[in-house]
Amino acid sequence: MKTLTTRIHPKLPIFRLDEDGDSYVYTPGYSCHISKTEANGLQVSFNKGLGINLLDLGVLGNDLLDRARRSQNQWESLAESPFEPVCLTVYLSNRCNLKCNYCFAASARVPRHEDNSLCMQDTQPHKPVVIREEVVEQAAEFVAAHCANRNMPFTLVLHGGGEPSIEWGLLKRLVSLTHRVADKFGVDWWSYIATNGLLSESKARWMARNFNLIGLSCDGPPDIQNRQRPTLQNKGTAKIVERTARIFNDCPIPFTVRSTITPATVHRQAEILHYIHDRLGAKEIHFEPVYSGWNTSLSGFSVADAGDFVAGFLDAQNMAVNLCCDLSISGARPNEIHGPFCNILRDVIQLTPDGSASSCFLCTDGNKSENATLSISSVNVSNTKFLIDFSRIAELRRRVLRIPIQCLDCINIYHCARECPKHCLVHEGDITIQSTGFRCSVYKNLTERWIISHANPSNVTL
Ligand code: SF4
Ligand code: SF4
Repeated sequence: MKTLTTRIHPKLPIFRLDEDGDSYVYTPGYSCHISKTEANGLQVSFNKGLGINLLDLGVLGNDLLDRARRSQNQWESLAESPFEPVCLTVYLSNRCNLKCNYCFAASARVPRHEDNSLCMQDTQPHKPVVIREEVVEQAAEFVAAHCANRNMPFTLVLHGGGEPSIEWGLLKRLVSLTHRVADKFGVDWWSYIATNGLLSESKARWMARNFNLIGLSCDGPPDIQNRQRPTLQNKGTAKIVERTARIFNDCPIPFTVRSTITPATVHRQAEILHYIHDRLGAKEIHFEPVYSGWNTSLSGFSVADAGDFVAGFLDAQNMAVNLCCDLSISGARPNEIHGPFCNILRDVIQLTPDGSASSCFLCTDGNKSENATLSISSVNVSNTKFLIDFSRIAELRRRVLRIPIQCLDCINIYHCARECPKHCLVHEGDITIQSTGFRCSVYKNLTERWIISHANPSNVTL
């Protein structure tokens, strides 16, 4: 099944897709099945240029123009809107109780042998870094002030470049501290915590009582989970993750499950989805292809694997519809105007354990010198007011929102994370010479399939 996708407006994101004699038109967030003659008519009209008589376009043509202009304006406002964060994400420390074989966190990076096994005797003990409460308080006040101005709730996200529940006392104090700050500014408090599920029953229950949403990581059935996400002592973790999920279901607390798909599990996506739904009881499931090439030692996907990933993902997504749960992937979200995963595009302040704020979700340990360009807080936040470097943010936004030449005529032009994090647009020099990578190929194919199935109502949703 070959799909031909063509941009049919010289300046705006309006596309036609042709497949098996059927035609579709698309602009971000909207698709519709039309006849080939109508598609040809629209293409000719749009290409006539600005002097076109709007009446000639008909209702559909004018609707497409309106929507496309709105999308383009929204994209432009990503760079121009003031940075007014309403979410505080805190990476509490760089300590973890698991040793996932694809971990990108600095704390988990240890030398590997050629066969990819860990080379423990060469491992330097990693210096633990734990965030200081006074920095969190300053950042929380900064965020809460914006929440008050924007009449929005304060959002706390606890994460780890490790496992946040390891710093249990600190975690509980940060929950109280941010509640106090939100109260002081007269805004509501909302919270999310990401956990690997390796925690005691009492901690799991406390989490369920004190957070609004939990993100649990699990890579699938026990053989996958135990191999990809073992403990530091190389023990399996599937049983304890199942027990943690049971507690979340009993409480009950809404939770999502995030599963990392690797080359070893790409053909098992439907089975993974089934397991997470049936055994863990999750209704919101998120698959993410493993990150590679950015400080991880696991070899990841190559562009040749994209077809397998897409086929497996669509199978799993159809199964999700039948099971009444939701399966998503974050790199291309056609219902949202978005770029790469940078915090500065999402109204988020992300604190790393050393107390600096980073623009990049992958910076889990602010001690790394390579992360310096991604820091958006002032050099020293020790005992002074929390200071954000707005000129750095403007420069980082400018760099990351550059549209690579291969994306200009792409259906995902305004809703794609590009090749982030394998290739970072902040660090790329010449953006005109990117070749199609695994993520690009996956996002393009998935978006085409979503558009066509949405226009021809079937199982897969846009
Ligand atoms: S584009 Fe770069 S800075 Fe932004 S999230 Fe991706 S890797 Fe990080
Ligand atoms: S990275 Fe690929 S899928 Fe994304 S906008 Fe560019 S060409 Fe399209």
